[in-house]
Amino acid sequence: MAKELYKLPPLKFGYVDLEPYISEEQLRIHHDKHHQGYVNNTNSILQMMEKARKDGTDFDYKAVSKALSFNLGGHVLHDFFWWELTPAEKASKEPVGELAEAIKEDFGSFERFKKEFSQVAGSVEGSGWAALTFCDDTKRLGIMQIEKHNVNLIPHFPILLVVDVWEHAYYLDYKNERGKFIDAFWNILDWEELDKYFKKLQ
Ligand code: MN
Repeated sequence: MAKELYKLPPLKFGYVDLEPYISEEQLRIHHDKHHQGYVNNTNSILQMMEKARKDGTDFDYKAVSKALSFNLGGHVLHDFFWWELTPAEKASKEPVGELAEAIKEDFGSFERFKKEFSQVAGSVEGSGWAALTFCDDTKRLGIMQIEKHNVNLIPHFPILLVVDVWEHAYYLDYKNERGKFIDAFWNILDWEELDKYFKKLQ
């Protein structure tokens, strides 16, 4: 079977369309440079491993496993992040449908969820993410705090919502004020799409 490499997905909106919450310059650098970097690194690692297998040579298995987890984790998280965003004028500002019900049931209210998710994102040490996840075994929503792109990540739990709190995600717009970026993030979420995605997981 012909194998493919990873590709940087195009954004479903224009580079200026998330302003004033995320500026054009911030979005261009984040998507075209940082995310592209994770895609390129992942592909290089895959190609290096394939060549080594063909040539019968060894590589540093431990280092390569770590680098692959970091770069592919970065690609997957960024892919989800761009997908869940939408220009503010199209954003409902609050969850809708079954996802809204599930958030209310598990967290008590959207306000409570928003507070917890923002606290998890705001308290990431260094670089990382907050992610809303779903456990199909118990039907519970949960919040993960992912360090870097891959540490603390619980396998198998599908991700329902993420926020990137690496400095590269907000520094041009908000400098050291991560909290302001997290507050801004709530204005540009595509809750309709997120609800459709959640329904598919049921
Ligand atoms: Mn990022």
